[in-house]
Amino acid sequence: MTDGPLAGRYALVTGATRGIGRATALALAEAGAHIIAIGRTSGALEELDDEIRQAGSNATLVPLDLKDGDGIDRLGGALYERFGHLDVFVGNAGVLGPMTPLAQIDPKEWEATLTVNLTANWRFIRSLDPLLRLSTAGRAVLVSSGAAHKARAYWGPYAVTKAAVEILARTWAAETENLSNLKVNLFNPGPTRTRMRAKAYPGEDPETLPAPEDVAQAILALCLPSFEETGKLYDFPMRKFREFRLPE
Ligand code: NAP
Repeated sequence: MTDGPLAGRYALVTGATRGIGRATALALAEAGAHIIAIGRTSGALEELDDEIRQAGSNATLVPLDLKDGDGIDRLGGALYERFGHLDVFVGNAGVLGPMTPLAQIDPKEWEATLTVNLTANWRFIRSLDPLLRLSTAGRAVLVSSGAAHKARAYWGPYAVTKAAVEILARTWAAETENLSNLKVNLFNPGPTRTRMRAKAYPGEDPETLPAPEDVAQAILALCLPSFEETGKLYDFPMRKFREFRLPE
């Protein structure tokens, strides 16, 4: 176990199999946290496990489809039994969803996008809030997108979910703002070199974009016990630490 700023702490990351979530899980592990890694792709979770061990930490692998709301509920109970509390929750998993005019979206695709990007995050709040309250320094970060603030043709389902995630996180922050030990914030990575970005912009040269590892360092900063803000949205690049509180 490393002696980093998260040594002895438990951190749950959704979408830990690739992209920003995987890089965040590794950054948190390098800071000393035990990682609870969530995703559907078991092989990718096992590869992550190897890298976390090499970084001197440990992981609990949870192959889970975020459409399984009951599974998210059960996870909270299982983590309580095993660890007694949770210190960090990074709600990162997401899908782009159909990039189709609103009038032509298949209802099943609409539903699936809302379930993974929005409802699963609420189910995690429901499942994990009691565990985070038991931490000495509970930190939650929900991953949003610039799409939450733009109405662009064909981005409807994705943008709707990200706008909703922002009010979800801000509501949770308002409900917990009297707790000195629990902070809830939002993070917008901006364009990042991942599979999702390549799917949205197939003609773009990925090498022109920041790597998930760079973005992950910014998410790590929001997860540290020393980070005291709550109810805010942070835009990458964090080296500028441009932050703003959304209009009330
Ligand atoms: P990515 O590379 O496509 O990774 C998405 C992750 O979500 C994967 O680990 C995937 O795991 C997981 N996931 C998707 N559906 C799931 C399901 N049904 N159940 C469980 N896990 C599921 O995407 P990314 O770019 O890293 O995106 C991470 C977050 O950043 C997302 O919330 C995205 O909206 C946001 N974001 C990204 C960018 C960008 O430019 N990349 C910009 C703004 C915001 P499995 O497939 O193994 O289940």
